Formats: sequence, structure tokens, C-alpha cells
Amino acid sequence: MAVAILIFIFFIINTLASNLVVPTRYTIDKTTPVYLDFAYYIDETKDRTLNDLISNPDLLTHQPLTNVQWSFQQQNYWLFIDLENKSLDAQDIVAHFDNPMVDHLSVYRLNKKDELIETYKLGDKVKSLTLFQYSVPHVRFSLESKSIERLAIKIDTTGISKTPVNLYRHKEFVDLVRSQTGIWGIFAGVLLMAALYNLVLYFGIKDRVYLVYIGYIISALCLMGIVMGFGFYLWPLEWQLYLHEKVIFSNYAMAFFTLSFCTMFLRYHKDKCWRYKLSKALLTLIFLLSITTLFIPEYIAAPIFFCVLSLLYIMCVILIYKKLRTGFRWAKFYVFSWVPLIVGAAIQPLELTGFLDYSFAIRHAFLVAILCEVILMAMALADRVRFQRERALYHATHTQQTKLLNSAKLKQAFMALQSQGRTTTLCLIKIRHFNSLNTIITPSQGYTLIKHVAKQVELELSHEREFANLDIDFNNSPRLADLGSGVFACISTRNQNQHTLEDALVKVINSLPKQYEIQGLNLQLTYNIGISSAGHSDDFEYWLKRGYLALKKAKTNNDLVVSTTNGSNILMDVTLAAKLQNAIKTDQLALYYQPQIGLNFSQVNGAEALLRWPDPAFNGVSIEELIILAEHTGIINELTLWVIEQACKDILKLTQQGYNDHPISVNLSAKNLSIKKLAEKVENILIKYQVPAHLLKFELTESALVESHEALISLVNELSDLGVRVVLDDFGTGYSSLSYLVNYRFTELKVDKSFVFDLTNNTAHKVIVQTAIDMAHNLGLSITIEGIETQAVHHLLKDMGADRAQGYLYAKPLPYDDYLHFLKSQYSLKMLNSTF
Ligand code: C2E
Ligand code: MG
Ligand code: MG
Repeated sequence: MAVAILIFIFFIINTLASNLVVPTRYTIDKTTPVYLDFAYYIDETKDRTLNDLISNPDLLTHQPLTNVQWSFQQQNYWLFIDLENKSLDAQDIVAHFDNPMVDHLSVYRLNKKDELIETYKLGDKVKSLTLFQYSVPHVRFSLESKSIERLAIKIDTTGISKTPVNLYRHKEFVDLVRSQTGIWGIFAGVLLMAALYNLVLYFGIKDRVYLVYIGYIISALCLMGIVMGFGFYLWPLEWQLYLHEKVIFSNYAMAFFTLSFCTMFLRYHKDKCWRYKLSKALLTLIFLLSITTLFIPEYIAAPIFFCVLSLLYIMCVILIYKKLRTGFRWAKFYVFSWVPLIVGAAIQPLELTGFLDYSFAIRHAFLVAILCEVILMAMALADRVRFQRERALYHATHTQQTKLLNSAKLKQAFMALQSQGRTTTLCLIKIRHFNSLNTIITPSQGYTLIKHVAKQVELELSHEREFANLDIDFNNSPRLADLGSGVFACISTRNQNQHTLEDALVKVINSLPKQYEIQGLNLQLTYNIGISSAGHSDDFEYWLKRGYLALKKAKTNNDLVVSTTNGSNILMDVTLAAKLQNAIKTDQLALYYQPQIGLNFSQVNGAEALLRWPDPAFNGVSIEELIILAEHTGIINELTLWVIEQACKDILKLTQQGYNDHPISVNLSAKNLSIKKLAEKVENILIKYQVPAHLLKFELTESALVESHEALISLVNELSDLGVRVVLDDFGTGYSSLSYLVNYRFTELKVDKSFVFDLTNNTAHKVIVQTAIDMAHNLGLSITIEGIETQAVHHLLKDMGADRAQGYLYAKPLPYDDYLHFLKSQYSLKMLNSTF
């Protein structure tokens, strides 16, 4: 269809062009028996009169007018045309002088005896001509039958003097004017439309390249309007006459916009390399020179301009060449747009210098070239927008580093499948401890690992039809999304027994690489699976969160790789949330304490406060799920304030028992950021219970840091200012970026228990924990390791240089009274001393 339209448009353009281009073929010598004889004289002194030349016929050179040596020099040109009408009819003749910029153009009509019949004064310095006479300088007269007459034309101008003179019968001249007006109209119409259209685009897209393009269009319109003469119709007469004198200024304007467009279109203003700087320098030069031309005569300004023009061409070639080499495929239209411009721009000087004969087509070649160029530039801009949109879409749906589909695409697929009423079960596959690897491998090694695993998973998924293509309209689109941190996601659309799905996923996992070597270190790769099915009213975020929770559950339980959450999950249980809220209000919750042991002297260093809901009815509810429920329902703030207050009460009790150097750590959730003036509230609680700030610690889990950097940094700062210490919890499960440790005022790191359980026989985990210990110490932080269950791990950690340990080996989280008992129990301490 598009091709058919294009062919039709070209057909029309071709017909139009062939109908418009002919008129200069019909000069009078070809249409009527009128005999012409030409002569010329170049008057360098500029003071010869008509009578001088008539009385000294020897001065004239009898040659066709095409042989006149036109130049930039300030001299007068005298052209003589003898006409002899051999026919029996009088001829209605028009002499057309095709240069509307001539200052003074005097035409003398002489009879056979060289007596003056009539004088015509043309040229833009002549007052009160009609617009038509200004824009198409011509004289019309009647040549009687069998008569002989002579035209003496004097051209006196400071600018370009070349003035093609052609004689037509009036009839053919009307045709010429019609063609000329047609082309001018098309040119001005197309350019104005293009300018307006791009202005609208600019308002929409706000890309300044459109303004530069409009600048180019307008400067081209001005320049052509001046040179060709149709500018008389486009703006006031005074402007046009002023611009005639400053035609080089318009040339500079067009050059300026050509280079600006080239620079901005090719996006050099974004990378600011030396080419950009060079182009900017040249633009400044063009700008300054253009201002100078307003004050110097044209015959000096013109040669300077031509030098600058060659610099401009070289610069544009440099700019375009670089981008073409770096695979700038959308620049093709732009490169094409230079072809007509260069051809058109070459024709003009060739005609001026006499290498090409004057004709209507040659005369309008540059105009048509600009027209083609402007159209190609518009196409180039459209292509650029299309490319930018495609790229934006690509970036929005792919992870930058691995080029795999991302969570946005997963969300799209989820919504599309939900709207079709199809089953959507989220399957998450995680490379265990991927994030912690970040401390020992470079990010790019990490991405290579992800790509390596993803390729295998994708291959496996492609054999199973139940997994949806994430671009659901394309059968061969990927089925796997990369959610970052070594987590992959796919969607199962089959309505099936949970176990069948688990089996399918375990099959996928079994085919994945089990080892990966990085710099000689052989990493053992293991994987977790989390499954979460969505109800029809579920939204994407809940669905995904449940998937992550399933993953986490799979992780905490060492033996089980697969974990499932389904629609009946507590996460959305509003009744439970209400009960929780009630429990907070009626003080039915409790804090349990788990001791932290200093590994150096094997004494209790403090404890972590962990939330419990002692009511037997809620025995089975996992604390982590409860926290997520509290986060989703907004109860988390109440809950946290309750926990802080309860912890402070217990700290007070402990100090009263003589434990006045026993800090308690309280866990903070990322969502707690929304508590207004949290630090101030903490301060009030500390004052209320007379608790010294250094006895309270907060544990911030690492994944919280991803959500809102700035706010968290200032919260940590405010808490630190109070004297409350802040610990980075679950280190190794989040992004483990070193920048976190540097930007936040943490005093302590706490390594996640998932690295610790199998520490004695997992080399990679050993490397990770050792790296974390060394790193913390180098940064002046102390380090706690949680999840110590065996003596072997205890000894290993002690050797590795960890500061503190927490785990079931020492004690499980205990209710306050039991904990106090634990502390008091000399036996425990003794046991600790002797055993460890
Ligand atoms: P966490 O901050 O990493 O707390 C440590 C968790 O590891 C506790 O689980 C603790 O019982 C468990 N743990 C400690 N030593 C061992 C061990 O040797 N072996 C094993 N298998 N587990 C051990 P718990 O109490 O279930 O808490 C889970 C998570 O819930 C906490 O992880 C914390 O993120 C969150 N949480 C608990 N209480 C609160 C609270 O008051 N507020 C907030 N925002 N989150 C809390
Ligand atoms: Mg904690
Ligand atoms: Mg932890």
C-alpha cells in the first residue's frame, strides 16, 4: 500500500515537473523569425554612457551573451541585442532579466538609426516598481513587422552581476511566469508546512533539534526568496530590499543551521567529544562572521563565505563519518538528504561560472534540491523518533546489562494473561547467594553468569508449552525475565496440581549448570524455586511479593528448594491484619531476645529483639509474613513504635538488674521510613524511659536500601546523631554494593544466616564471609554473624576474625524472663567459657 502511494506521488511529481520545466526552451529565436545579434562591453571605469558606446562601436565584443565574463568586481556590464523582425506580423516581445538582485538595470530601446525610442528603469534600487517587476525584472514592447531595433542594457550592481537575458514572445513568457510561480509556490508552501508541522512536533516532543530544523527551513526560505525573487511576496518590500544587500548574511544563517542540525541530529551534544567542541567553535565563527557581513561590502564578504563553506562541509563529513562507522543505521535518510543538497549547491556555481548553460531547470536546481533535502530531513527526523521510541521501549522492557526481559515485561505479560482470564502461576528461579557473590566477583562477571544461566533456563522452558511467552503475541519471544540479583521469572499458564509444576521446575533446575568458574574459583551453583499463583483479583505487586516470599522460605529451609505460596496466603488476609492491629493495641504481642556473643571473650554482648505473637491461635504464622502483612496494610508503623517502646522498657529493666552495658537491637522495616519524624519519636521514647541512646540499636535489612536511598541516608544520619547505632542486617542478600557501606553511617554489619549454615563445607561461602569480615574491619565496622548452629561453625568464625555471633547454638530467641534467666545463669556463662 505504502509503495503504491509512493509510486502515485512520484508519478504526479514527474508530470508536474515535466510540465513546468520546459519554458526556457521557447525563447523567441526558436519560435518566430526574429533575427538576434549580441554584443557586450564590460565597463571597469563605470562611467561610460550609452552615447559613448554608440559612437565607439569598436568597443563592443560581438559574441553571444553566454560568453560574458561575470565577476564579483565592481564594474558595469553593457549588453546589446539587435533584433530584426523578418515576419509580416508585429511581435509582442518580452525581455526577461533573470536576476532580481541587480541594483540598477537600465534598458534602452533604440531604432535602426540608434535613436532612443524608450528607456526602462528596473532594479531593486529603483523606486515604485510593481512587485512583479521587482521579482521578475522584464520589459515588454512591440516589434513592428520587418523592423530592426536594438536593446542596450546596462547592469550596474554591487552584488552578483550575472544576469541571464532572454527574449520571449509574450505568450511564452506568460508560460514561464506560470511555471516559475508554480515552483515558487510549491517550495514556499512545502517549507512553511514543514516548519509549522515541526513546530507542533517540537511542542509535543520538546527536542530542540526540531527548532534547529525549523531554523534551517526558514533560512533556506529566506535565501531562496532573496535569490530567486519570490521573497517580494513573502515579506514587506523594505525587508526584501535590505536582505538583497545582506544576501551573504542569509547564506551564513543557512550554513549555521546546517551545521547545528548535523550536530544535534547526530546527538553529538550528548557525548561532547572533540568533534562536538570543534563543531561548536565553527558555529561560533560562523555566527561572528555573519554579524560582520552586515557591515562589510558583499564582494569582500562573499569570498570569505565560500572559505567558511568548505570548512563546514569538512566538519559535516567528520561528524557523519563517525556516526556511520559506529552503526548509526537511522542516520541513513539524513545522509541521503545531503545528496540533493550537494548536487544542487554544485550546479549553482557551475552555472554562475559558465560551465553549465542557463536554463529554467538549472536556475531552479538548488531550489528543488533544498526541497528534496527538507523532505528527506523530515523523514530522517521521523526515523530518529521511531528509533528513539524503539530504544526507549527496549530499555523499558529489558535489563540494561544482561539484555534479558525485565520485570516491566513480566508485568505486561501478567496483565495480558489476567485479562484473558488465564491461569497465572509465577515461577521464580534464583541462583542462591547470587548477591553475595558481588563481594568477590566484578559486576560484569556477575552479568555473564546470569546470561549463562538464563540461556540454559530459556532453552529448557522452550520445551515446555505451559510457560507463557512474555511477549504473548509472539510465539518465539522469550519466556524468561531477569528480575535482577540472580532471580529469574517465568509464568506457567497451565491449571495443574502444584506438584506437577514443581516437578517440571525441578527438571529445569536439574539441567542448569552446577559449577561456574571465575578466576580459578570454582563456584558451586545451587538454585531455589519459589511458586506463587494469582487469584483473579490479585495485582502484580502482590503476586511478585508472594513469589519472593516463597523464594525466601525456600532459602531459610536448607533442604527444601521449592516453596510455594498460593491465593490463600496470609499476605492478603485483612481479618488477620485487624487482629494484629488489635493485638498491638492490647499489648498481646511480645518481644523475644536472642543473645549475641562476643567471640573474643565469649561473653554476651547484647541481644536482638524479635517479635512474637504468643497467642496459640497464631502459632503457625511466620513472623516474616506477618511483617509483610503489616507493611501492606500500613500497620507496620504502629507495630514498629510498639516494638521500640517495648524494647526500651526491657532495656530499662535490664539496667535495673545491673546489665547497664547491654544493647538491644530492634529490626526496622523499609516501610518505616513513612513514619513522620521517626528519629524524633525514638528520641522521645528514649527520654520517656531514661534509656541511654547507645543501648538501642537498629537493624536495617539490606534490601530496604534499594527502595529510597536519600530518605534512608538521612534517617540513618539522624539516628546516629542521637547516638543510636545502626546495623546493616542480612548482609549478602541485597545488592551488597560497597557504596552503601560508604554512604551510610553504619556501625556494624550483620551477615545473613544463609551463608553460615553450611560454612564449614562451602568454599564460596567461606570466601564471602571472610571477605565481608575483612571489608567490615577495613571500613572500621564491627561484624556479627547470625545463624550459628554448630560448634564447628563457631570455631571457624572465631578463626576468621568475626566479632560477634548469634544463633541457636547459644540460645534461641527467648521471652524476657527466660532471657534474664539465661543472662543470670552463671552456669551458662561458665559453660560458654569452657566450651567455646
Ligand atoms: P532477622 O532480623 O534476620 O532475624 C534473625 C532471624 O534468624 C530470627 O528469625 C531468628 O530466630 C533466626 N535465627 C537466629 N539464629 C538462628 C539459627 O541459628 N538458626 C536458624 N535457623 N535461625 C536463626 P525470626 O524471629 O523468625 O525473624 C525473622 C525476621 O523477621 C527477622 O530476620 C526480621 O527481619 C523480621 N523481624 C522479626 N522481628 C521484627 C520486628 O520487630 N520488626 C521488624 N520490622 N522485623 C522483624
Ligand atoms: Mg535482624
Ligand atoms: Mg537475618
